[in-house]
Amino acid sequence: MGFFKCVFLILSFLLVDPVPSFADSYSVSSKGFSEVSASFLNFAKKKEVFDWIVGVRRKIHENPELGYEEFETSKLIRAELDEMGIPYKHPIAVTGVVGFIGSGKAPFVALRADMDALPMQEMVEWEHKSKVPGKMHACGHDGHVAMLLGAAKILHEYRELLQGTVLLVFQPAEEGGGGAKKMIDAGILENVEAIFGLHISHDLPIGEVASRAGPILAGSGFFEAVISGKGGHAAIPQHSIDPILAASNVIVSLQHLVSREADPLDSQVITVAKFQGGGAFNVIPDSVTIGGTFRAFSKETFAQLRQRIEEVIIGQATVQRCNATVDFLDKEKPFFPATINDKGLHEHFRKVAGDMLGIRNVKEMQPLMGSEDFSFYQEVIPGYFFFLGMMDETKGKLASVHSPFFKINEDALPYGAALHASLATGYFLELLQKTTLLSGKQHDEM
Ligand SMILES: [Zn+2]
Ligand SMILES: [Zn+2]
Repeated sequence: MGFFKCVFLILSFLLVDPVPSFADSYSVSSKGFSEVSASFLNFAKKKEVFDWIVGVRRKIHENPELGYEEFETSKLIRAELDEMGIPYKHPIAVTGVVGFIGSGKAPFVALRADMDALPMQEMVEWEHKSKVPGKMHACGHDGHVAMLLGAAKILHEYRELLQGTVLLVFQPAEEGGGGAKKMIDAGILENVEAIFGLHISHDLPIGEVASRAGPILAGSGFFEAVISGKGGHAAIPQHSIDPILAASNVIVSLQHLVSREADPLDSQVITVAKFQGGGAFNVIPDSVTIGGTFRAFSKETFAQLRQRIEEVIIGQATVQRCNATVDFLDKEKPFFPATINDKGLHEHFRKVAGDMLGIRNVKEMQPLMGSEDFSFYQEVIPGYFFFLGMMDETKGKLASVHSPFFKINEDALPYGAALHASLATGYFLELLQKTTLLSGKQHDEM
């Protein structure tokens, strides 16, 4: 059975209340909608709803799971959806879940949260610290899941407003595993018109959001190279071929790719972050392994970098009489395309977020060289990714994502939940307005 056919079947069984039409209950005006988005935020801030969102986040934080192992997280999500009476499909891409709220009919809009944690030890001492040694939610994905469940609660509460169907996409393995790609391969974007995603930000004030139209995050790839020479006594170098010196020259030469070959106005990064070789003070090792990441915004630049990285590693190793092999780890760490925000959805976001938070709290930001697998969705359908502020100066500075000291200011969670819900609800409203205008125009022309 096709993915959507199956979903329609579930929805038709589970939607007990007939859904009144939006036009019946609400006037199609932007003033009407700004009241709606304000009431979404108030609802998410209500003590019982806030406490529930925070509780969900803390439960996930205590039990962090790595990519494609988010079994308990997925179970918790499904239990909460069951509790709300929201139908869903599972499993998708091992642990993924897609919930459905609304009319059961087109248009379809998706909201996405990532579920995976990082392989690192939490250093924050608090009541809900990670109970799993060596694993931590240090990128805020626990908060992302809690906010999307919060949005589910809001959308379910206000379901009579939905002139379409919202897909709640809980995906596995954002941190390098390409979970988004596997969700797409499973067909979740079939008939979906737009997708929204957010990331919590430690250095943006609470109540503010930031994004931009066009490229916002870079495309990223990884490489690993083994440079082989001939080991021997460190005091008799003439009898060895030193791979440490060769690897050092390789690293210096790789830095020339960005500084000398790239257009200074086309942002690119190459970082060698891994260097393994040797173990004794007086032994030249047989080989050295280096590895790193490279970033660029366009596909052409990315392909050019990839080709030159390979040429430079092999060529420079040869200069030092070494052999080199280069692996771009396509299977384990698939290449992420650049995250490119749709222009039309940017306008929609500014309007919705501006209505809720005040337009001065909707910031335009510079692109970052970080990457996100949300970009896979944007390669298939129009998508929009934004950052949600959580900094509160009165509570001190927050550590950045991927730090063992990373903390979430939980006061930000209702904002994310309400924004998710408003972006979807507002999308249907705008579409309805456009269709109404268009049919009016056609009528006038007749
Ligand atoms: Zn991360
Ligand atoms: Zn993240």
